[in-house]
Amino acid sequence: MTHDSPSPVLIVGSMAFDDLDLPTGSARDVVGGSATYSAYAASVFAPVRLVAVVGDDFPAAELDRLAARGVDTSGVERAAGKTFRWAGRYDANLASRATLDTQLNVFASFHPKIPAAHRATPLVLLGNIHPALQLEVLDQLTSPKLVVADTMNLWIDTEPKLLAQLLERVDLLVINEEEARQLAGIHNISRAAREIMTRGPRRLVIKRGEYGALLFDGGHPLFAPAFPLEDVIDPTGAGDSFAGAMIGWLAALGSTDADALRQAVMVGSAAASYCVEAVGNARLCTLEAREVRERLDAFRHLLYVPTPQG
Ligand code: AMP
Repeated sequence: MTHDSPSPVLIVGSMAFDDLDLPTGSARDVVGGSATYSAYAASVFAPVRLVAVVGDDFPAAELDRLAARGVDTSGVERAAGKTFRWAGRYDANLASRATLDTQLNVFASFHPKIPAAHRATPLVLLGNIHPALQLEVLDQLTSPKLVVADTMNLWIDTEPKLLAQLLERVDLLVINEEEARQLAGIHNISRAAREIMTRGPRRLVIKRGEYGALLFDGGHPLFAPAFPLEDVIDPTGAGDSFAGAMIGWLAALGSTDADALRQAVMVGSAAASYCVEAVGNARLCTLEAREVRERLDAFRHLLYVPTPQG
């Protein structure tokens, strides 16, 4: 059951133009960024308050598209200069990707300003940006109920001290397998999870791409499969949509307890499976709650095992 009027979620992260080299071809100037993907995914279930920065080259129509999905873009700052740019190349199987280029542009001098009316938002998603900026966001908030954060290998390498400070203030960390290993300095995923959870987050989601995700929260770990799609087109933003859908679902449910979180992890995996079906946010931006539920049903079949007799 979901509440009639879910509480809003606050999402902070990057908005970007991405250049993507995919096995199916190249795509240029694709609107991406951690915050964009997360906002589209969260908006399937709850109103979203978005905080990010774009340059003067960012089309107003793109902000209007987000607004049409229930995303409040009043916290998106338009700065003089160019929007953040990222370029990535995927291998032929979409199993790994290399960053070809990162241009901070307006991000270089960005300091997130949370609008006064948004500072008491209970559920907060700190998308992947510099941990100093994630900390600046937390400093502006009034006792959030749940802080979810993402990060990446770049910050684990270059900003370990800031990341350690951040982790102490995060309730739920959502990272991929390689990042978890790197952060913990431990290869075994279950041991790495235990180590990371001693550093602050009481809950941890480790994403393993096409092999699904694991939730660690001190009880029995939960396995969420990735939906076995026949056609994966573009994995960009899968992780951000996973986190966005998770937090949107928690807002819609009005709960952050253990059961709600287990549901949310499945919902995140379902939303991510739609994201990867098209280039950029082309599929995600029209995603409906009904479609997510259909994929949750498919997960039930995927995981169904008859009880052994005798
Ligand atoms: P994901 O595929 O979920 O890891 O997210 C991909 C998105 O992250 C792309 O749309 C990029 O624009 C964005 N991105 C890549 N590198 C960075 C970075 N250093 N800071 C913020 N966002 C980034």
